[in-house]
Amino acid sequence: MDMRRNGQTPSDLIQIDKVLQLEERKGYRDDAATNGVARFVGERTARLLTSAGPDMRHRIQKLESLLAEYAELPSPQRQSAVAEARRIVGDLTNRPMQATVAPVVAPRAAKPDTRAPAPARRAPRAAKPTARIGSLADSVRLLPGVGESRAKALAQLGVETVGDLLHLYPRKYIDYGNVQPIASSLFGRLTTIQGTVASIETRRTATGRELVDAVIADGTGRIHAVWFSPWVARQLVPGTPVSLSGRVEQMRGHLVLQNPEWEILGSETLNTGRIIPVYPLVKNISQKGLRPLVRHALDATRALIVEPLPDDLRADEGLLDMGQALEWIHFPVEGPTGDAAANLRAAQQRVAFDQFLALQLGLLSRKHEWQSQPGTAINVNREALSALNERLPFALTGAQRRSLAEILRDMSQPQPMTRLLQGDVGSGKTIVAALAAYAAILDGYQVALMAPTEILAEQHARGLQRVFEALPDDSRPRIGFLTGSVSGAQRTVVYAAAAAGEIDLLIGTHALIQEDVEFANLGLAIIDEQHRFGVEQRASLRGKGVAPDVLVMTATPIPRTLALTLHGDLDVSTLDEMPPGRQPIETYRVDGRQRADAYRFIRGEIESGRQAFIVFPLVEESETVDARAAVAEHERLSGEVFPDLRLGLLHGRMRPAEKDAVMEAFRDHQIDILVSTSVIEVGIDVPNATVMLIDGADRFGLSQLHQFRGRVGRGAQKSYCILISGDTGSDGNARLQAMVDTQDGFKLAQIDLELRGPGDFLGTRQSGLPELDLAMFADVRDLERARAVAERILEEDPNLESARFALIRARMDAFWKRAIVDVS
Ligand code: ADP
Ligand code: MG
Repeated sequence: MDMRRNGQTPSDLIQIDKVLQLEERKGYRDDAATNGVARFVGERTARLLTSAGPDMRHRIQKLESLLAEYAELPSPQRQSAVAEARRIVGDLTNRPMQATVAPVVAPRAAKPDTRAPAPARRAPRAAKPTARIGSLADSVRLLPGVGESRAKALAQLGVETVGDLLHLYPRKYIDYGNVQPIASSLFGRLTTIQGTVASIETRRTATGRELVDAVIADGTGRIHAVWFSPWVARQLVPGTPVSLSGRVEQMRGHLVLQNPEWEILGSETLNTGRIIPVYPLVKNISQKGLRPLVRHALDATRALIVEPLPDDLRADEGLLDMGQALEWIHFPVEGPTGDAAANLRAAQQRVAFDQFLALQLGLLSRKHEWQSQPGTAINVNREALSALNERLPFALTGAQRRSLAEILRDMSQPQPMTRLLQGDVGSGKTIVAALAAYAAILDGYQVALMAPTEILAEQHARGLQRVFEALPDDSRPRIGFLTGSVSGAQRTVVYAAAAAGEIDLLIGTHALIQEDVEFANLGLAIIDEQHRFGVEQRASLRGKGVAPDVLVMTATPIPRTLALTLHGDLDVSTLDEMPPGRQPIETYRVDGRQRADAYRFIRGEIESGRQAFIVFPLVEESETVDARAAVAEHERLSGEVFPDLRLGLLHGRMRPAEKDAVMEAFRDHQIDILVSTSVIEVGIDVPNATVMLIDGADRFGLSQLHQFRGRVGRGAQKSYCILISGDTGSDGNARLQAMVDTQDGFKLAQIDLELRGPGDFLGTRQSGLPELDLAMFADVRDLERARAVAERILEEDPNLESARFALIRARMDAFWKRAIVDVS
């Protein structure tokens, strides 16, 4: 039996079917009916139920409940709900459904269904005004509930368009599927609990802030939850069932959840699904405000999201399509491919892949572009080089010989060299650079060497001078020096000499790349500590010659896997072997109670004529606060602990000239102990310093600790590194133990990478990588895969000109437009 009375299908059913059809065509945006699909269907099924026979009631109720929460459903579920609903409607009317029409981009009005009797009412109106989103570039203000203040708040997150909102990736997720009984809450743990609000009160703290304090109970126990936002108290009245997620802390002797994420159970499905997104927050917009906006943006743009990767390539790599990835990265749910967590991971992998691909394509095509310029083929005079080599007081290590050979081979090619020489502090980069410079000079070219600070430039000048002193007087390269503090008259002399070709090797700082500096014949540019220089600076140094060879040096070791990826536009030579006879730096871990012993040890070293560094623990991520704390610590140390010694202070708030003055004083032994924040990290060489004391060592990253330690052990004396730390977590422990166990910078970098993952690892290196926000979810294999795909794409289409890669190209350009700092 069907619903037709007198052979007629009730118009309510016909209308439901029409709205569902329209919904299909428009891409499941819940805009086929003015007040939403759920309401439209609900009103009509209610009416149908009044006249339906008992055998039909069940199906009508099913229809109603299928669509009751339509607005809250993620898109893929909407699609299946609509399909199922239309099947039920077809059943009820006993007529076959029309074939499902694929969603189209532009909303179309529903065509009248000529096979069905004329509807009793007008066809539903098209999209409601708030949902008329026709492009990813539409302003977020088209989203319902986004007015001026919310639009401003979103803009602070870099979100101006609906498309931007899709790419506002959650910074973490709460897994409400993993609920713990309150009784088993453990201090320090991230925990999700479910219970009811037993009581709630608002009071003022000693500092006058309003504090909301609730007691939450489940069958197993009770726990306090506190927030510093008074409005929470208005939402959570006693008796409310809630889900809470946050870290368990202690307050006045009992366990509390501080500022936990919370959701009222059973109300907003967006906030209480299994895995809930947590977005970066700003003022004026809450997580609860943000989630429905993202939901709406996803639904409204379902048909607008374009897939940048060609299908074959995507299939080969087993990557999700972009639309699905964006859906699941915000609202991961179970799917045929796996559970919600697996789908989330696949979505993150996909989106991260696109970022890595853009990065790699940019790096590789930059290298290609640079190397397609004609450069200088330097004629290497091997005999003269060997002669210098033989006059050195030591033999080159195997790694030095190998790296030098790689560099000379590049220099003798007509393509411009772009090579990175990486080696730990003390691995002997200077001599390699000196020999490369000498090769260029012997063939009649000029060489520029640029360092990030005056003091490092000076250090280089001295180091190179020492190397060339091995040569007879008349064959020594003529060395010039140019920094900001070289005065006017002297400066003019240097300019003229460089332009006339009377200087063979010009060493200096940024001053080298100022407009007035001209070279007669620049053949090689050497850049030290590359990460300090920006794109334009490097380009302008290159611009001083006709595409000179470029050698970049860094003392920050990077694991091989990452070097390839991070320095994709450079060929890499690695000094992974230390010159013989290095004394190991004895490294100790102690806790705060042994601080006095550590100070006594330092005093002993100073009494035997040595010097020491004391690195001050990080206070906060603010240089101002750090500087203030460092000043206080310096006062304490010089007033109470070492009143009879000469102490110096170095912090990030000092002007460069002040810093240089302090470092020079330390180098010249006018200071016994240098108290410093992390600013001493790079470069300075004081062979007489034998102790590096790092207070709060657990607060620093592994590579930073290694850089600090590299400041000592540079002379003939035995050196020591003392790490003072409080109680650390397991990661902190592993870091400090690694410092004690090894002094190999590459090994430490590898351990660091494993402890932190590539995102965090890259992030703290000021690598200048734009927008690698998802790298934290990725692993090294993802990076390598993107590298391989980038190579494959460029092999097929070296200039990315084909239509096949047009979208990838656009993404790459957009990505690199945001690159402020050079990567390589
Ligand atoms: P880096 O710049 O890589 O930190 P340096 O070039 O300053 O290291 O070298 C550190 C010290 O090691 C210098 O005193 C240098 O003279 C010395 N050195 C370099 N190569 C060798 C070698 N092959 N054998 C012995 N000592 C070396
Ligand atoms: Mg060359």
